[in-house]
Amino acid sequence: MSAHRFFVPPETLASSEITLGRDLAHRVGRVLRLQVGDRISLLNGLGREVEAEILSISRDAVRARALGVTCPNTEPRLHLVLYQALLPSDRFEWVLEKGTEIGVARFVPLVTTRCTARPPAGDLARKRSRWQAVVRAAAEQSHRALLPEVTAPATLQAALGGLSGPGLLAWEDSRRPLKSALPELATQDVLALFVGPEGGFTSEEAEAAQAAGLTIVSLGPRILRAETAGPVLAALALYAAGEL
Ligand code: SAH
Repeated sequence: MSAHRFFVPPETLASSEITLGRDLAHRVGRVLRLQVGDRISLLNGLGREVEAEILSISRDAVRARALGVTCPNTEPRLHLVLYQALLPSDRFEWVLEKGTEIGVARFVPLVTTRCTARPPAGDLARKRSRWQAVVRAAAEQSHRALLPEVTAPATLQAALGGLSGPGLLAWEDSRRPLKSALPELATQDVLALFVGPEGGFTSEEAEAAQAAGLTIVSLGPRILRAETAGPVLAALALYAAGEL
């Protein structure tokens, strides 16, 4: 396994002669200053890792030869989807980074009544690619085999409407301790986790979530900042699932 890991489009790994584009050429040649003959790990983001030897590096492309394929065993069995209410940019990115390291499988930026941060109107595509880049860097660093996805922002209502499996919503006014809900939920294949914005969920939102089948839980008597609550909840869910 090489120390240098890169998620690449899955189709680039279809044959043993691999050509990677300008973006990778920049990272490999300019940023890391790797050389012909060096080894790199290329990940398809879906669980496969290809060990490869660099054959050539130019400004526009890196060519490499595949040496072997593995399927690293670093992914949790429990597929966590973190619905995190939007936060000011740097703190939202922090959640993406820490959530990825911990093992979240998918992030859904959530728009709720008390969100002060709003999805960027004009440049949502740019924002999403920035979010995806944060996740990719964290996933490479933390040896993820699956590249977590950041979806487009969704309203709480839409998110609840689209939910097909079990889920938890963290609400500071709940009297149900997380500990009483986790053992059963952590045995599932997929678990949705909902965390509100700095101002919290409204009681109407908590009621709507309950009506949609979510379990409303407390994270204890201390109030965590929203960007703390997401990663803490993810870590505790994976711990209960026996994955930490
Ligand atoms: N509105 C609250 C704080 C919200 S904290 C207030 O100002 O008092 C931001 C989010 O983190 C909440 O929406 C909730 O999802 C989660 N959270 C933080 N601490 C929590 C706790 N002790 N129990 C449950 N959820 C918590």
